[in-house]
Amino acid sequence: MDTIYFDNNATTKVAEEVADRMKPFFCDLYGNPSSMHTFGGQIAAKIRRAREQVAELLGSLPEEIIFTSCGTESDNAAIRGVLTAVPQKRKIITSRVEHPAVLTVCRELENHGYTVVEVGVDKDGRLNMDEFEEALDDDTALITIMWANNETGVVFPIGRIAELAAEKEIVFHTDAVQAIGKIPLNLSKSNIDLLSLSGHKLHAPKGVGILYVRKGTRMAPFMLGGHQEGGRRAGTENVASIVGLGQACELAGKNIEQENNKVKLLRDKLEKAILKTCPDCRVNGDRENRLPNTTNISFEYIEGEAILLMLDKHGICASSGSACTSGSLEPSHVLRAMGVPFTAAHGSIRFSLSRYNTEKEIDYAIEKILPIVNRLRELSPFVSK
Ligand code: PLP
Repeated sequence: MDTIYFDNNATTKVAEEVADRMKPFFCDLYGNPSSMHTFGGQIAAKIRRAREQVAELLGSLPEEIIFTSCGTESDNAAIRGVLTAVPQKRKIITSRVEHPAVLTVCRELENHGYTVVEVGVDKDGRLNMDEFEEALDDDTALITIMWANNETGVVFPIGRIAELAAEKEIVFHTDAVQAIGKIPLNLSKSNIDLLSLSGHKLHAPKGVGILYVRKGTRMAPFMLGGHQEGGRRAGTENVASIVGLGQACELAGKNIEQENNKVKLLRDKLEKAILKTCPDCRVNGDRENRLPNTTNISFEYIEGEAILLMLDKHGICASSGSACTSGSLEPSHVLRAMGVPFTAAHGSIRFSLSRYNTEKEIDYAIEKILPIVNRLRELSPFVSK
């Protein structure tokens, strides 16, 4: 049975072109880019090229790109690095629906005397902008608000948020892990100061990420040691993955519009068919301002995990929450923040597509989902028979 992979917000397949580019860096071009000899020097040149490829996708300067080990490290480095550089200010503004890579750090910082404001969202997952604006003040050291939500795909008005931050001269970081490659951007024309990205959400390998730091932004280094990454992130570079990420960024930049159109058509076909055929279903999140690849659907009266297990029997991979929180029986903090009723939050499934999905896969999934839902509802104690 072939795997049908609808879990691309958890991780993506490494593109063949990316894997091919990486291969020579394991057994042939294995030098240390910091070495003085020519063998190492040629590796440093490959890292420079990857930095340029990333900068082209982001619309930034190459020297504004720092390679990290993952999105989580980038988020941690941004938050802690800014606070260390601006010790006199003690307030952080974030949102209630951030990924744990941001939310857990902010909540931990509360134990160290910081005030953290978690701005709420409405029933469609849209950021409460009045609440956000009210929170801005002179004591705010940092705003950290995600670009697109990993569970619902809802996209926040990052341009406007960055503008408001700039007006108040507050440093603004955005976790763009789910946005990059799906939303076109040009950082040179934005007021974003720091941005996190993760390779494995973008058809590059796991274990590599990026932190964009706008020139002139004050940030203390997070990892101390050698002088790599201009002294801003110590540690011998993960060369193969950095080269792969550069290639993945180039691929993403070339085809962003076509891929978005294709993926959106497939996502919409799946979503419409489910809503039409399965009673008591709803889409969680603003359907207008949403990533083209994501749909989060609640199937009332049944457990999301039960649906996942039955989909899995047919080779279909989806998710019942963010990959990091599934395994816990708590309903997702994102759906709770949106006020999604308990029974609907428990029965939620996230389908997240990629450029590699096909219409045939969508048709197959549509065919399988209704019988699964009917069967589980027959067994559900919450459905009157
Ligand atoms: N931020 C968001 C929005 C994510 O979706 C994820 C991963 O799911 C991360 C951060 C963490 O990225 P990584 O897995 O590279 O640490």
